[in-house]
This record gives sequence, C-alpha cells and structure tokens, in this order.
Amino acid sequence: MDCLFCRIIDGEVASHKVYEDEHAYAFLDIYPTSRGHTVVLPKKHIASFLEMNEEKTAELFTSVNRIAKKVIGVTGAPGVNIGINNGLVAGQTVPHVHVHIIPRYENDGGGSMHTIVDSNPDREELEQLAASIYSRF
Ligand code: AMP
Ligand code: ZN
Repeated sequence: MDCLFCRIIDGEVASHKVYEDEHAYAFLDIYPTSRGHTVVLPKKHIASFLEMNEEKTAELFTSVNRIAKKVIGVTGAPGVNIGINNGLVAGQTVPHVHVHIIPRYENDGGGSMHTIVDSNPDREELEQLAASIYSRF
C-alpha cells in the first residue's frame, strides 16, 4: 500500500508531528490554510470515513477534540473549522481518512462550511429527505 499518510506514520516521510497515541497521529498540514492547520488521522489505514465503525470513529474524534484544544491554546485563534473532505468530489486528495483542524482568525477572509457548495437543493424535499434518513436508523 503506497499511502503518503501511512508513510508519514511509519516515519518514512518527515512531518511536523504534533500528537500521537495508540490509535491516532497528527501533524501540521504542509500547505496550511491557516496558522495551526492540523490533520488528525487514524493510524490504521482506511480510505473512507464511511467505512469506519463507531468505535474507531469515537477514538478518532476523542483525539481530534484533545488536539483541537491544544492547537487553539497555542494559536489563540478565536474560532476553528473541523471537518473531513471525504471522497473525490468532496476534495479528498489523500485516500487515508483525516480530520482537518483549521483555526480561524478575525478578518481572515474565509467563509463558513456553508460556502463550500451552493447547489440550491429543493427546500420542499426537506420533509421527505429527513423522513427517509430518519427511517434508516
Ligand atoms: P485532503 O485534500 O482533505 O485530502 O487533505 C490532504 C491534506 O494533506 C492537504 O491539506 C495537504 O496540504 C496535506 N498534505 C499533503 N502532503 C502532505 C505532507 N507531506 N505533510 C503534511 N500535509 C500534507
Ligand atoms: Zn494510509
């Protein structure tokens, strides 16, 4: 498996590591969107968030929560976006699940996650869509 992030975890490729535990690994993004931009990944290779079970998800996000607090503590950023680009159409470029922690600053010129896409979905479908999703649990 030739995966860049697996190679970073294995120490074959250098990174600016900020955290490591039994399940997770985190380093500064090499092309940071903002100061302190960090990526957090499960140590075990998995390509898609949708393939992760609840236990692995809980482990990953426990680490994300822990790391985000430290990143914010160091940078002093008054806000943060936390998210995953999952799948090619969503902008995922490295097929190893990773959570972005992107500190946000006053007047940094960025927008909210709502600005990622503007496809104007049908608002009248909301009720039916909600019912379909709700019924799957
Ligand atoms: P994504 O586009 O969500 O798949 O995110 C991949 C991220 O990995 C991008 O933000 C890249 O800047 C970052 N990245 C790519 N190569 C490296 C690297 N060698 N070290 C640290 N971050 C990297
Ligand atoms: Zn990998």
